[in-house]
Amino acid sequence: MVAAPRLAARLGLKSLLLKDETRNPTRCLKDRATAIAVTLATANGYRDMYCASAGNAAISLAGFCANHGLGCHVFVPSEASQTRLNWLRRYGADIHVSTGNYDQAYDEAERAGAENGWYSRNCAFNPFLVEGKKTVAFEMGEQLGWQAPDLIVAPVGDGCTLGAIGKGFRELEAVGLTDEIPQLIGIQSEAIQPLVRRHRGDDSGGDNGNAQAASIAVRRPRNTLRLLSEIRLSNGLMLGVSDEHISSAQRTLAEEAGVVAEFTSAAALAGLIQLAEHESLENKSAVLVITGGRLDSDF
Ligand SMILES: *Cc1c(COP(=O)(O)O)cnc(C)c1O
Repeated sequence: MVAAPRLAARLGLKSLLLKDETRNPTRCLKDRATAIAVTLATANGYRDMYCASAGNAAISLAGFCANHGLGCHVFVPSEASQTRLNWLRRYGADIHVSTGNYDQAYDEAERAGAENGWYSRNCAFNPFLVEGKKTVAFEMGEQLGWQAPDLIVAPVGDGCTLGAIGKGFRELEAVGLTDEIPQLIGIQSEAIQPLVRRHRGDDSGGDNGNAQAASIAVRRPRNTLRLLSEIRLSNGLMLGVSDEHISSAQRTLAEEAGVVAEFTSAAALAGLIQLAEHESLENKSAVLVITGGRLDSDF
């Protein structure tokens, strides 16, 4: 974790730390789940793996499969960026570009995975993968001397990442390492925010917009129940932020904390700024999860 004192002062926080997940092998938090998936696939004799992804999970899987000599089948939405497709090509993945969005690519991946008997790296489908993602919480707890922060803020797509962080902190509390669990704050893009609505109990549809935050552009989140349960257990919140605010938060992270986050990842800071406008964060400690650092364009 990296301390961000200038941002803490701007937001009126006692302390702000950035959990920098851009330093994982393929530059994204997704590697934590992939490590588990590849280990289990290999241990169980699989030769091929698959996943659906807006880019990061696919690139993560492709990198690990290249390293282990496994076949890698990835299903990405039609709007996947050239940058991300290039990473996949360099890692030698078998790339299926869907004619539709992430949600359609997910269905296509599950169908192909079942038909071909490949091992799944879909985090909301393979129940073991949360055990990888939850290690983010263990590292935070350890670096804070087993003191949970007051708030943890992360971007939310399917809900696996923040749900796993909640699970990790509940386990630290259960074994007596920490006394409290942090409040989880999940951030979505205003244009596509099904979990913000579900958390408010609003069942009306309406995710027809286009969001620039590609890694969280999920219209049918596959880990809804876990995410909502962890948010409730932590007395947490779900917030929607605009692309404009995400873009400005991305620049602020670089200019005032020296951290380059990818567009989606900067949604966490945009959400925290929004929260600070509505309530005082005085005397609170917060951690922003910088989930990934892959840039699709200059910013
Ligand atoms: C996947 C991803 C997320 C969201 O994770 P979910 O488990 O889908 O909620 C957030 N940020 C980045 C950079 C991601 O790649």
